[in-house]
Amino acid sequence: MALLDIKGLKTHFTTDAGILQAVDGVDISINRGETLCVVGESGCGKTVTAMSILKLIAMPPGKIVAGEIMFEGRDLVPLTSHELDDIRAKEIGFIFQEPMTSLNPVLTIGEQIAESLRRHEAVTKKQALERTVDMLKLVQIPNAAGRVHHYPHQFSGGMRQRVMIAMALACRPKLVIADEPTTALDVTIQAQILDLLQDMKERFGMAVMLITHAMGVVAETAQRVVVMYAGKVVEEAPVDELFGNPRHPYTQGLIRSIPRIDLDAAHKTRLEAIGGSVPILINPTPGCRFAPRCKYAMSICTEREPRLREIAPGHRMACHLGDAS
Ligand code: SF4
Repeated sequence: MALLDIKGLKTHFTTDAGILQAVDGVDISINRGETLCVVGESGCGKTVTAMSILKLIAMPPGKIVAGEIMFEGRDLVPLTSHELDDIRAKEIGFIFQEPMTSLNPVLTIGEQIAESLRRHEAVTKKQALERTVDMLKLVQIPNAAGRVHHYPHQFSGGMRQRVMIAMALACRPKLVIADEPTTALDVTIQAQILDLLQDMKERFGMAVMLITHAMGVVAETAQRVVVMYAGKVVEEAPVDELFGNPRHPYTQGLIRSIPRIDLDAAHKTRLEAIGGSVPILINPTPGCRFAPRCKYAMSICTEREPRLREIAPGHRMACHLGDAS
């Protein structure tokens, strides 16, 4: 049984212009201990999918209108915010893009991590503080015993993200969702944070759902990849298969847009951007949502929505190319 099994998830937002179908029928599953990357451009629905898991979206205007989110066999969709509090941090940790939005500026980081530990585990204040210092050491915060009494603003961006990782992992969750955890950081720090996340995953054996728009991050981190476009999953495959044999035209475009530093000048090809822009998801047109940007589009593409189908073991895509049905 998958650790997390999302089926037919639809998360919509009410706006003045109409209903925005941000996530529209998404299926994603994550196995225990695996790293799954969810990739796509801004506005593809990857963050809304991740936030929907723990109902971290503002409701209203957002609403989960259909689907189920099974975590260890239990559907999270009908749970109240209070019931989800038992699962947040303890079972599912969350790492945000910008830690300052999720760390409390008026509490020391020690108080915040210890509070989370005490909410979920029967530990004394002293034990919680000791565990917090241990976690800060693990994520390589220098002088952890002293820094535990510092406030979030006293840390650099990279150090704050280390604190966020310590906080997300303090209760040893089975799944960690990391939403663009390195986007706000310098390039050198980005690599350190990804390495740290990988180290922590190996140490604690948790599953990681990494949300990113960067294919380079996917190549280095993922075991399996889900590609999203305009609120839908368009392709899913093990990482080597996805990069070696991308089948959906959108995935092919994403891969062609990655700079290749491993090739010499004679073999380098021009980077290609995907022309056009992502559609507005209010009253989207029928058929394939990628059709306006797709060089292979056929008449069926604007008439009928392609279904996500298995094209090889573990490899699924939603495209009419080669579709016999
Ligand atoms: Fe392109 Fe048609 Fe496939 Fe959509 S279904 S990606 S428009 S070929």
